[in-house]
Amino acid sequence: MAPINGTRPHRQPADEYYRASLDKSLPRPRPPVVHKTTVLVGPRQVRFTVNRKLLSAVSSFFRERLQDASQSKPICLWLPGESSTMFALFVEWVHSPSSFRRFLDHAVQSAHETSHRASEDVHWAIVRLHLFASDLDLCKLQDLAMDALQDLYLEYDWDVPPSLIAYLYKQCEALTSVRIRRWVVAMAAFSLTVGPSQSPKVQPQDSATSESARLRALFESLPEFAADYIMHVRNMKAAGLDVRFKNPQLRISANKLRNDQRMFGFRECSFHSHRATVGEGPCPHATTD
Ligand SMILES: [Zn+2]
Repeated sequence: MAPINGTRPHRQPADEYYRASLDKSLPRPRPPVVHKTTVLVGPRQVRFTVNRKLLSAVSSFFRERLQDASQSKPICLWLPGESSTMFALFVEWVHSPSSFRRFLDHAVQSAHETSHRASEDVHWAIVRLHLFASDLDLCKLQDLAMDALQDLYLEYDWDVPPSLIAYLYKQCEALTSVRIRRWVVAMAAFSLTVGPSQSPKVQPQDSATSESARLRALFESLPEFAADYIMHVRNMKAAGLDVRFKNPQLRISANKLRNDQRMFGFRECSFHSHRATVGEGPCPHATTD
């Protein structure tokens, strides 16, 4: 509860009299509606205060948990398996969806200026935001996080770290992570066939020298990853595309996608949730933004 600032004048006996008569003549005031809800996140129960109405509006997952209780009773939810850095981004999106992409870009930029560790943290937060949104069927947020991730890797010329591939294939459901898995496979194909970059690349978490060897080792330990990789290379070949040049960090919008550009980047919806429904049509997110 917010502290009350300032002092209240002492109540006079006459005030008590008027208050008592008002209490008798007026119906009892309804208990105040609680507009906020508390969400505890992760095993350490990091506390977030979220607008209850907005939280209910974005997802049925929250709506079902918030609607049962009476409007006047504060509710506290606990998401023990989620990360608090991810949830901080999610809360920002719930409160201010229209400016969220700018907020995310600013977070990425300031992390980059702070430390390598801060950049890693924001990278993992965006990965987890994509997965959380996928679990809750928040397609637009899921796709927005995917776009931000591609832009982040492009901006800092990162290769996909083996730790991310291992995380997605070992710890995440196939259905939840299907789009980001597709993307890391394309990234792995791009960096393995291109070979070590001419300029030294900085990657989130992994040292540049052993990256190629560690990626190859993942084919042994993660058969699902190996199968997806083989499928990707086969599909690219069938489409007459060369994985050595097709950079999965590059997003090209449908109206700008000429054949020569298709060789070097991916259509912006390639890793979006709606890809199958719009086909080669324009991205539905672009029209609403
Ligand atoms: Zn799209």
